Amino acid sequence: MRSQDHDRLFLSPPHLGRHELNYVHKAIEDNWVAPAGPNLAGFEADICQAAGVGHCVALSSGTAAIHLGLLLLGVGPGDEVLCPSFTFVATANPIRYLGATPVFVDSEATTWNMCPERLREAIEDRIARGRKPKALLLVHLYGMPARMPEILALATEFQIPILEDAAEALGSRLDNRPLGSFGAVGVFSFNGNKILTTSGGGALVTDQAELAQKARFLATQAKDEAPHYQHSETGYNYRLSNILAGIGRGQMELLEERVKRRREIFAWYHEHLAHLPGLTVALAPELPGSRSNRWLTTILLNSAETAATPESLRQHLETHNIESRPLWKPLHLQPLFAGVPTYGGEVCADLFARGLCLPSGTAMTDADLRRVAEALAEAL
Ligand SMILES: *Cc1c(COP(=O)(O)O)cnc(C)c1O
Repeated sequence: MRSQDHDRLFLSPPHLGRHELNYVHKAIEDNWVAPAGPNLAGFEADICQAAGVGHCVALSSGTAAIHLGLLLLGVGPGDEVLCPSFTFVATANPIRYLGATPVFVDSEATTWNMCPERLREAIEDRIARGRKPKALLLVHLYGMPARMPEILALATEFQIPILEDAAEALGSRLDNRPLGSFGAVGVFSFNGNKILTTSGGGALVTDQAELAQKARFLATQAKDEAPHYQHSETGYNYRLSNILAGIGRGQMELLEERVKRRREIFAWYHEHLAHLPGLTVALAPELPGSRSNRWLTTILLNSAETAATPESLRQHLETHNIESRPLWKPLHLQPLFAGVPTYGGEVCADLFARGLCLPSGTAMTDADLRRVAEALAEAL
């Protein structure tokens, strides 16, 4: 069999377990298709437990959760929000929904996440211009914990609340504390490509009961307490359905297993690719005290040692019916955000120029992994 005849290996496809259908089945049997029901409450309780937080509101997407999170932190028209440049566009889009402006901050090389030195520079410069940032949107890219001690210290020093975009970091920890629990508000995504999925969905978590209550209110059309339809604020239709929450409950049972497998996949690639010329499996090692869920395994190329580029490798893998993707293209380089204030930018631009994400789905077998490794070896 020619390698092209193999089944396609996707980057991070959904991986269902055995119990999702039971929860969905029960919801349909009980006619609990709508409104909010036991699956929703159960899914939220599961997330609270996994994230070590007091309150969770399950929503239709991670993007919706970021939008509501920014609203809860008081972001409005004309405000500025600190945001990493190196992230998926969904992190920053909700800033624009609110008529606010992102201020981009570069990555640092050890975690690829927001650089604390650049962050201080950004905060001090915005304050000097009379534009103190209203919030700090923080991301843990590919599940790798950001440098939280330094970033939390800056947030405290300048009194800027943190919205933690842990969309890619469910199950990751720092100092034994789950990511998503560090900010005033945290966000998870259950989109189809994430470590767990509800086909589409998200969650907002917080330890503050008032914030959770406000998020629920805003997510269900902001209905005032009255027998008729009475509204004094603009609301949204952002709640997750009880059916999809059933998928989520089945998935949450698998979190530790899925993290374990993603980490094994990372370790396998690390062991079997490290000898290839010009290729580094990143990021290794993790910072002390941190555990990444290793959502995606990524590689970096060193142009001094290989003529291959991320794009030539991607195309070569494609001939073997293997999907791979460049790292996130920095937001400060996107036409959408032309002219947005940016502090640094060289570090994440370099990562984008050199990096590629490899298939990392938890249903992959060791034979699948060997297929990827052989195709990479061939190209290098
Ligand atoms: C996936 C993702 C989101 C958006 O989540 P959706 O559920 O797809 O809306 C936000 N931020 C990051 C970093 C993501 O990877």
